[in-house]
Amino acid sequence: MAMITYKFKLEPTAEQQKKIVETLHLCRWLYNTCLEQRIQTYKQQKKSISFYTQKKELPLLKKELPIFKTVHSQVLQNVLERLDKAYQAFFKRLAKGGKAGFPRFQGKNRFHSFTYTQSGFQLKKKYLYLSKIGEVRIKQHRQIQGNIKTCAVVHKNGQFYACFSCEVETKKSFKTNQVVGVDMGITHLAITSDGQFFDNPKHLRKSERRLKRRQRSVSKKKKGSNRRKKAVHLLAKCHEHIANQRKDTAHKISRQLVNGYDVIVFEDLNIQGMVKNHKLAKSIVDSAWRQLIQITTYKAENAGKQVIEVNPYHTSQVCSNCGQLVKKTLAERKHRCKCGYQEHRDVNAAKNILKLGLQKIA
Ligand SMILES: [Zn+2]
Repeated sequence: MAMITYKFKLEPTAEQQKKIVETLHLCRWLYNTCLEQRIQTYKQQKKSISFYTQKKELPLLKKELPIFKTVHSQVLQNVLERLDKAYQAFFKRLAKGGKAGFPRFQGKNRFHSFTYTQSGFQLKKKYLYLSKIGEVRIKQHRQIQGNIKTCAVVHKNGQFYACFSCEVETKKSFKTNQVVGVDMGITHLAITSDGQFFDNPKHLRKSERRLKRRQRSVSKKKKGSNRRKKAVHLLAKCHEHIANQRKDTAHKISRQLVNGYDVIVFEDLNIQGMVKNHKLAKSIVDSAWRQLIQITTYKAENAGKQVIEVNPYHTSQVCSNCGQLVKKTLAERKHRCKCGYQEHRDVNAAKNILKLGLQKIA
């Protein structure tokens, strides 16, 4: 079994938006109040309050503050669960001897979602029914697979989303007996050792230009001004848009790789010295590469396949046919070796990456 998350855009009406924002506000208040309660109890009685104790107090809370009746009870319970998880993570880090940050109070800018854990929500074609909120229009662009376990409503950068966490059977996927090396590039996000080119989508480039414009726009505005706030908001939206586009691309490429091959070899991006001499939007491309490796690794694990990362040193210079070093500048797109072998520069590199990967598992 594996968990997969699907994220879809919601289009709530003005009234539904108000309810969602209000629910978030109440959940955040509950989180902070329960955190305070835990801290105070510990200070005064040297005792810790459990998740169950706090959960048992929820009906009382509703009695005293009827406004909490406007929030589905599972959603409230989940807030306490989240707090409990934060505590457990804190103790785990403490036990490991690491620097353990104490669970934090949640500011407005850190609390973006609330979750229905079992019931209280239902998908109906173009609408998502949410208890206490209503039937909200949803843009479901992908078919959901597996059993939906939880539904989180997210409000971030002025947008609304539903995130479904689904449990799927890990399929005994078909072995293909194929192996592949993958070189990462800029115009082509990924190039395989058997000559497949996966483009870095053009719309990503377009978004990058917009991102730069918006960054400039923010820096020009006076600190604290309303116009700056507005510009910051637009910038955040742009960042999120790019992140979504990038994720989509990574999903598509990784699906093809995992379906097509049993062993997939990438260059290890954490090894210094692979700087590919590109100033242009370096960080954006870099995170696209990282995400591609991350998602491919995750899918490969679920499919019983293998991802290997290798040191990319010299992989673009060495001849994949005879092993000689063939120096070339970045501008040279073709690998031409004395042995007679010719290949696209990046395909040659991908072949070398594959070789190194196979050596690792040999
Ligand atoms: Zn050669």
